[in-house]
Amino acid sequence: MFCGLIAYPNPLFAYSLGIGKITVYSDRPIPSAGGERFLRDCERLLERSPLKAKGHRYRVYVTNENWRQRLFFRWDPKPWGLAYGLGGTAFLSGANFETGRVVHLEYVGTPPRTLAWLCAHEVTHLITFEHLGLDRFRMPQWAFEGLADYVGIEYREKFEQLRDALGDRAGDIPMMMKYGSYPRYRLLVTYFLEKKGWPIEQLLQTRLTAEEANEIMRVDAKR
Ligand SMILES: [Zn+2]
Repeated sequence: MFCGLIAYPNPLFAYSLGIGKITVYSDRPIPSAGGERFLRDCERLLERSPLKAKGHRYRVYVTNENWRQRLFFRWDPKPWGLAYGLGGTAFLSGANFETGRVVHLEYVGTPPRTLAWLCAHEVTHLITFEHLGLDRFRMPQWAFEGLADYVGIEYREKFEQLRDALGDRAGDIPMMMKYGSYPRYRLLVTYFLEKKGWPIEQLLQTRLTAEEANEIMRVDAKR
């Protein structure tokens, strides 16, 4: 029952708007100007991705009402978004299309964690599934989440800039607020793609643990 629901949730979402590759569905009316801006922003972020989409259409569902949010986020209510790769669908907790902000329970997200960031982040997970299938589960978390964050972030800092901003502080909350949810994972992805010149396939296939990846980056910085 639940598998069918995540692959084909449309009956629970009365409103939709589609532009380009992405169609957004919502349980509340989608204002046309804000909705179109959101879809264009998300698509623009995805176009800068080193990982090219294979699919022609992605479906993103906004679960504003609490009961829908509980239904689709049943395993963990904390994340703002979820990508069910096998169903090819992504779910976002609440959205304010007029302001481009994520509304999660009573909390309103602030830039750089905009609604477009969240959309590009979750769709990047779907595209990763397209490329890897179930092998996605062998991709280390830093590469899987770091890539999605790298794609979703509007102002992508250069490696040195992000490294110096993060310093040695281990992922504290103010840093997360300012630089997005996975700044350290994004730093690693930025390093391997931009400094080491890895092709995207190498990132998809890597089995380095976060500790190993960090060590390579750290040793390299000393030279
Ligand atoms: Zn994610």
